Amino acid sequence: MTYAFKQEDRIRTVVELVDAAKNFAEKGWFPATSGNLSVKLSGEPLAFAVTASGKDKENLTVHDFLVVDADSKALEPTSLKPSAETLIHAEVYKRVPNAGACLHVHTQYNNLISDLMFERGRVRIQGLELIKALNIWEENAAIEIPIVENWADIPKLAAEIGDVLDPRVPAVLIRNHGITAWGENVFAAKRHLEAFEWMFHNLFLKLTLQGNALAAAAL
Ligand SMILES: [Zn+2]
Repeated sequence: MTYAFKQEDRIRTVVELVDAAKNFAEKGWFPATSGNLSVKLSGEPLAFAVTASGKDKENLTVHDFLVVDADSKALEPTSLKPSAETLIHAEVYKRVPNAGACLHVHTQYNNLISDLMFERGRVRIQGLELIKALNIWEENAAIEIPIVENWADIPKLAAEIGDVLDPRVPAVLIRNHGITAWGENVFAAKRHLEAFEWMFHNLFLKLTLQGNALAAAAL
């Protein structure tokens, strides 16, 4: 198969990811080396650069990425191993043709909200200004972020994410695990991820306030 991506585009986009990772690290979004990031280099056939397994995401460099195909197999000789969750990235690129970058992080708020809302199967958010960061401009827009079970079997997890994802809402939550978010390029994927994390934090605070108000009313 012929992979038609240019070396300079590969380096430029991986540098963009490294810069995004520095920003996420400052926010504490890579606890205990968790998380993985990728950028698409070619759609047909699929090839993308993804973080290698076990790297400290807080100190990523361009040398911590390898290029893999649609089956998450390395396309070049390397001693690096792709992150275990690389199949999830491949699934997103296969299901959402305009996805150009995919980001996966474990944070407190995405974990808490994913568990709290799991029985509903989705997190519903309405009317927040930051929904516009997802390029959704309707008045009082509502979004629903799907939640899947945290299957230890990664191919099963990836397939379920592919089945539930909604291309209009560029993220899926994994229960008590984290979020996978994407966008047409690194810049858009970063904006989406930041918007989702802000909305989960906002929802957490709102629920806390409501709980406190109920408790206060009962005094
Ligand atoms: Zn993970």
